[in-house]
Amino acid sequence: AKAAGRNGICWFEPQMLVDNNDRLSLSAALRQALELDELSLVYQPQVDLASGEVVGVEALARWISPTLGAVPPDRFIPVAEDGGMITQLGGWVLTTACTALARMQEQLGRPLRLAVNVSPRQLRGRAWLEEIASAIETAGIEPSQLEVEITEGLLIEDHGDVVAMLESLRSLGVSIVVDDFGRGYSSLAYLTRFPIDKLKIDRSFVQEISVAENAAIVDAIIVMAHALGMTVVAEGVETEAQERYLRERGCDEVQGYLYSPGVPAGSLDMVARAISRD
Ligand code: C2E
Ligand code: CA
Ligand code: CA
Ligand code: CA
Repeated sequence: AKAAGRNGICWFEPQMLVDNNDRLSLSAALRQALELDELSLVYQPQVDLASGEVVGVEALARWISPTLGAVPPDRFIPVAEDGGMITQLGGWVLTTACTALARMQEQLGRPLRLAVNVSPRQLRGRAWLEEIASAIETAGIEPSQLEVEITEGLLIEDHGDVVAMLESLRSLGVSIVVDDFGRGYSSLAYLTRFPIDKLKIDRSFVQEISVAENAAIVDAIIVMAHALGMTVVAEGVETEAQERYLRERGCDEVQGYLYSPGVPAGSLDMVARAISRD
């Protein structure tokens, strides 16, 4: 952090220089990685609790750099946002994931839904809507198979633009999911103002579901979502006990290491078959 010196002189602590350099070089490395095709996607299964079947996948970005090793998306997505690369990255994610979906469901022999994470900055401008429409068409999938995961932050910004953009997305036939639900400082009012199809319960509540307060929040989210005509998916499910609780409470879908981490598109059919057999 920037420290004010004794005479009011500002010091930059060495750590700050290092952080800034890191960020700069990470930005340059990411820019190059996009050119060199170093990014890939994995797909994490989403399981319907009633049937036990894999009904969808969430696309998650991976970056294995030859020089930096595996850089987690929590690190490189913010860098892409700040460095003006998120539009390019987001476009790549969208077209790659839609194309992979076509292949995965062909291998599996039945349709699947695809959830894609989008950052708020990606949504600025109409170009994005056309990109979605063309990614869907090129891949030959149905718009209703695509889910766009947004975070509460976008909804709290509360721009008329955001409502209009989400309405357009909806009218394409694409579903809208609020990711990490409950983690933000949201007012619940936005749930009726925006066209939302699904809530994804933040994994912090799921992981501490044995604590009564967290269980109460999970219960409330499920009841509220259903009352508003939305479906509910819980993320970060790691134990049978968590699954049991969510099933009892009527949660629709689950996702987490209990079933599978994200896997390459080519392995999805094998993983999905194993999950259904359990
Ligand atoms: P997220 O959207 O909340 O994604 C879920 C994260 O939880 C993923 O981390 C996933 O690997 C991890 N996870 C899944 N199951 C479990 C579990 O049972 N236990 C635990 N502890 N974790 C689990 P990942 O892949 O590192 O992604 C981190 C974040 O990076 C994502 O959080 C998302 O916000 C962002 N991200 C990833 N891919 C993209 C992308 O293509 N575009 C954008 N804009 N953001 C992305
Ligand atoms: Ca997500
Ligand atoms: Ca999440
Ligand atoms: Ca199972």
